[in-house]
Amino acid sequence: MRVVKKYGGSSVSTIDKIKNIAIHLSKNKKVGDEIVVVVSAMGKTTDNLMKLANEISLTPDIRELDSLLSTGEQQSISLLSMALKSLDCKSISLTGAQAGIKTTGLHTKNKIESIKTEKIESYLKAGKIVIVAGFQGVNENGDITTLGRGGSDTSAVALAAALRCECEIYTDVPGIYSIDPRVYKKAKKIERISYEEMMEMANLGAGVMETRAVEIGKKYGVKISVGETLGPETGTYICDSSEIIEKKVVTGISISKNVIMVNLENFLVIPKNISIIFSAIAKNGVNVDMISQNEGDNLIGSIGFTCPIADELFLDIALKEVENYIPDIQVIKRSEVVKISLVGIGMISNFGVAAKVFEVLSDIDAKFYQCTTSEISISLIIKIDDTIRVVEKLAEVFSI
Ligand code: ASP
Ligand code: MG
Repeated sequence: MRVVKKYGGSSVSTIDKIKNIAIHLSKNKKVGDEIVVVVSAMGKTTDNLMKLANEISLTPDIRELDSLLSTGEQQSISLLSMALKSLDCKSISLTGAQAGIKTTGLHTKNKIESIKTEKIESYLKAGKIVIVAGFQGVNENGDITTLGRGGSDTSAVALAAALRCECEIYTDVPGIYSIDPRVYKKAKKIERISYEEMMEMANLGAGVMETRAVEIGKKYGVKISVGETLGPETGTYICDSSEIIEKKVVTGISISKNVIMVNLENFLVIPKNISIIFSAIAKNGVNVDMISQNEGDNLIGSIGFTCPIADELFLDIALKEVENYIPDIQVIKRSEVVKISLVGIGMISNFGVAAKVFEVLSDIDAKFYQCTTSEISISLIIKIDDTIRVVEKLAEVFSI
């Protein structure tokens, strides 16, 4: 069996954990198994390297930053390989460049362009466990690059695509839950989820797996499982929707706390004004989401949108500019809100999901400020204080 196994930073945060993974790999490797392991940097290493760079400059040179950040993964690959060798298990560690991972783009945000797998293949043939540094590659100039924070998931799935095998992602949770268990204790682990649902869940704030990695999985048909490192249970399987027999109407609810909602009211809702508003927002680098527009009598109306809390400073600058251009406009900003999103591939073929959601809100008398939908999701902005009761009731109604 050929497989790529990826262990995240919290799974390799201590030497004991690295040793235990090595024991597990060496015990379970059968003759003929071809195992590629991708690892992240130990624990908070990448954050700490970033802090060091920031002690020199808040905007360090990005080529040098990539060289620095990539050292975290280089530590963990060599330590894991040493641990395996000390157990008489044949292994070899490879940096991204050594593993043939070619990247392109801006330093610190590179994309994988191609993977030349010859070297990995030959080591696998020789019976070695091949340990590859996640999160890194090499560009056309021969410079070390990184793929953006959380990028080792991408390395792992891209390697599995190139090596035509499945990808197992190991982390500190037993899988992907229908709802964040920290918010809803009765949340269930999802057995199977489609790439599309997982992408929505990740985008919408589920945060277990990198969205880019799921995109690559979908593009190349890589089957991905997500489970707990050395844990007893099987994890969650991310696969094509055709492999999911029972297509639930709602598979999961994701909750993102880090949103701000803005309502702009009492202005002439004409294309010119809308363009002024969104140009000011875009110019200030604010990432908007969930736009909705209401037009009342005489074209006087309102527009609402949400954006990440992290963009608040720039949002304020943009809103000031908007007020200058459109003097009578009224700005209402709400930060005590959360966005909850119900995601399910079954929504494509079932109607009445929105009606059910609104019935729940009405039953428990919970207000919502905004609602948007996609083919497989319904998102609502609600008051932060209502989160638990809304989520509990929705979970009950949709049996998730
Ligand atoms: N070590 C990198 C980070 O912390 C990559 C990863 O863990 O996926 O972002
Ligand atoms: Mg991660």
